[in-house]
Amino acid sequence: MTITNSIYEVKSRIDSACERSGRDSKDVTLVAVSKTLPADCIEQAYQVGLRIFGESRPQEVRDKTVLLPQDIEWHFIGHLQTNKIKYVLPVCSLIHSVDSMHLAEAISDYCQTKNISANILLEVNTSSETSKMGLQPKETGEIFKQVRMLPNINLLGLMTIAPFTKIEADIRQSFRLLSRIKEELSSEIDRDQRFELSMGMSQDYEIAIEEGSTMIRVGTSIFGPRGR
Ligand SMILES: *Cc1c(COP(=O)(O)O)cnc(C)c1O
Repeated sequence: MTITNSIYEVKSRIDSACERSGRDSKDVTLVAVSKTLPADCIEQAYQVGLRIFGESRPQEVRDKTVLLPQDIEWHFIGHLQTNKIKYVLPVCSLIHSVDSMHLAEAISDYCQTKNISANILLEVNTSSETSKMGLQPKETGEIFKQVRMLPNINLLGLMTIAPFTKIEADIRQSFRLLSRIKEELSSEIDRDQRFELSMGMSQDYEIAIEEGSTMIRVGTSIFGPRGR
């Protein structure tokens, strides 16, 4: 299948999942995950109308932004080390994967020196898989409140990665947990601002939409399997 056809397929599945769950598909943002892919693949998806792309390696996203149209919105979705903040912040409009107070503070410090602000989400480990990054669900509320107070940080919501499994109930439980944490924190966010839930990948974005996702991160279903 071509990239163009795949995008139409994904969009139609998004529409169906929204219809099933009584949601408006305008409330679900598609982030096309282009990590490891060359610029010409991204260019094809851009021609079909996609404008938001997700990357997970700091130097890679920095290098790609200069090759591609300036109206692309780059999102950072990978693990970020503090010494790589300088590559990511100048080019990315949202960081999905802030997984510690330490990282949030370092981003805040960087932004203050540059007189900019950063849009971020906190990554939560909802699957209790020790291999996964992210805050523990129990500590998320407290850290959310602290991160929200940091200067030059706009905390816009939460992100999670579901367990790697075919068992739908386990995937759904992981997304439900993130939705529940959101409910508990809704008084912590301005009422006129939307609270983002970044959840759902190629394998599970329809389930995520049914469970309230506002941002899905889809790579393989758009671009095909990644070589590495
Ligand atoms: C790679 C990646 C994705 C996309 O995964 P696919 O299965 O290719 O859709 C989404 N989120 C994160 C955090 C990723 O690292």
